Amino acid sequence: MAHDGYRIVFLGPPGAGKGTQASLLAKKYGIKKISTGDILREAVRNGTELGRKAKRYMDAGELVPDGIIIGLIEEQIAGHESFILDGFPRTLVQAKALDELLNKQGKPLTHVIFVSVPDEEIVRRLTARRVCPKCGAVYNLVYNPPKSDEICDVCGTPLIQRSDDREDVIRNRLRVFKESTAPLVDYYRKRGIYHEVNGVGSVEEVLKRIEEALSG
Ligand code: ADP
Ligand code: AMP
Repeated sequence: MAHDGYRIVFLGPPGAGKGTQASLLAKKYGIKKISTGDILREAVRNGTELGRKAKRYMDAGELVPDGIIIGLIEEQIAGHESFILDGFPRTLVQAKALDELLNKQGKPLTHVIFVSVPDEEIVRRLTARRVCPKCGAVYNLVYNPPKSDEICDVCGTPLIQRSDDREDVIRNRLRVFKESTAPLVDYYRKRGIYHEVNGVGSVEEVLKRIEEALSG
């Protein structure tokens, strides 16, 4: 399949590496990456109405209500033949709304990639995650440190820690994932578009596994 026919969902617990891998693939294949988390954080930073509505849920590690998120994704997908969704859908209601939207256009999802990583590794990764508030680059103080101390390699901006990357909020995000998002596995598995990929290993190794799943 040509890369421009890909409509991919990246599923998996927080910190599994979805954003890292989605960014690499989007660049490599020249298709759009849509991260609901990135869009919401930008809205919070800019103090928009969306940001004001979403902030308290995000700070607590809870999900932002489905109605808000579904409206957002409709705008983002409109007019795009191919895309990678990172962090959406996260509930069955969102997954069904997405199917309805895509089916109307006769362009259903082509792949769902579940990136699997054990809880304790997730806590290790997320407590060491640092992000660039300007260009969105993602680093890890242990696994993928910036070249100079906590400064973005790409644009030179001082890195920050996300406010929800604190251990208590991470534990809540993991609980929310198991309760609300993990049921999507059964939903997609039945459709034959579901692939589970081991997310433990180097970024390059995981990328290779994902590309194998996409071409299989
Ligand atoms: P998600 O989008 O699933 O929340 P990220 O892509 O932001 O996850 O990755 C979470 C953290 O783990 C980041 O600090 C990132 O640099 C790091 N990371 C991503 N992939 C790997 C990997 N294969 N091995 C170790 N650390 C990783
Ligand atoms: P992420 O960057 O994907 O880890 O998302 C960060 C936070 O944004 C989550 O903990 C939620 O509060 C919110 N969020 C992102 N995507 C969604 C979604 N699809 N549904 C509900 N909330 C979301």
